[in-house]
Amino acid sequence: MKAWQANIRTVTPYVPGEQPKGGNLIKLNTNENPYPPSPLVKKAIDEMDYDTFRKYPDPSSTVLTKALCEYYQMEEDEIFVGVGSDDVIAMSFLTFFNSEKPVLFPDVSYSFYQVWAELFHIPFETPVLNEHFLIRKEDYYKENGGIIFPNPNAPTGVFMPLSEVEDIIAHNQESVVIVDEAYIDFGGESAAGLIKKYENLLVVQTFSKSRSMAGMRIGFAMGNKELIRALNDVKYSYNSYTMNMPAQVLGAEAVKDDCYFRQTVEKIITTREKAKERLSELGFVFPDSMTNFIFASHKEKKAEDIYLALREKQIFVRYFKQPRLDNYLRITIGTDEEMEKLYDFLEKFL
Ligand code: PMP
Repeated sequence: MKAWQANIRTVTPYVPGEQPKGGNLIKLNTNENPYPPSPLVKKAIDEMDYDTFRKYPDPSSTVLTKALCEYYQMEEDEIFVGVGSDDVIAMSFLTFFNSEKPVLFPDVSYSFYQVWAELFHIPFETPVLNEHFLIRKEDYYKENGGIIFPNPNAPTGVFMPLSEVEDIIAHNQESVVIVDEAYIDFGGESAAGLIKKYENLLVVQTFSKSRSMAGMRIGFAMGNKELIRALNDVKYSYNSYTMNMPAQVLGAEAVKDDCYFRQTVEKIITTREKAKERLSELGFVFPDSMTNFIFASHKEKKAEDIYLALREKQIFVRYFKQPRLDNYLRITIGTDEEMEKLYDFLEKFL
């Protein structure tokens, strides 16, 4: 092996969900929102100044930051925006996880955490969820170089009560604790209200799920000024991570339309609750979900067989071919019509 080959940085690569294209397929595999973004976003696209594309974007994403501050009742220096929450979390790993001690995140949780830890040479440990897929808060009371977990967790969908999240933060005042709230709007309770109380807390959210804007890549973090300033210093040093101008403008429009946001989220929650009933009638078992997906295993049929049969019918759900997850399907909540087609097929197949 040549020296340059030996020097290549190796990671266990993240495997993104399939992005099949076509008119007639039903896509329930990457937790996108089945409804379009707010009509205010559409209007802003129609009215967008073409000259925007010629110029560099605002490095501080001011319009979007201001809209978020108003909505979440934060100060401008308490919010950091980035190119999807993936980018915000990657920046956070770089900025905050610089100790010799291991960063802690659950096994199982969002698989990108391990990729970033490996990529940035950050030591990590992964406490295992209990048999009900719950995070055991006591696992996070040991010495560590930082903590990150999704709440609700992914891909399990399980929500940890805010009082337990607070216990973890309170026990770890020497570390930065990141709560990844990608799915919080589907019924969970955000830790954002704890930011004024705990200077070591960073709450990360995204526009990709509840605000229907996965394609625009918009994520943000809320935390105390010192954390946000540090994130910005790192981001400005990686200038390619500045959000593009359409994302800044359209994201701000989406935040302004609270009524549409609430209606859309409500529709998804109603469909999810119906899905819980229908899937259990069909012989599935699953931890209770507070997200826009259900992580389900069938009592008799193998998950891979169901996944392949659905795929054949152009119904895409997520199947993880890896230990501990390979008997589960992660099914995104679609429209009622899409879900009916899923149940119809499963009724015949199972
Ligand atoms: N965190 C969790 C738990 C997720 O499931 C996802 C979506 N794959 C993300 C973060 C990243 O979302 P985005 O980059 O689209 O904001």
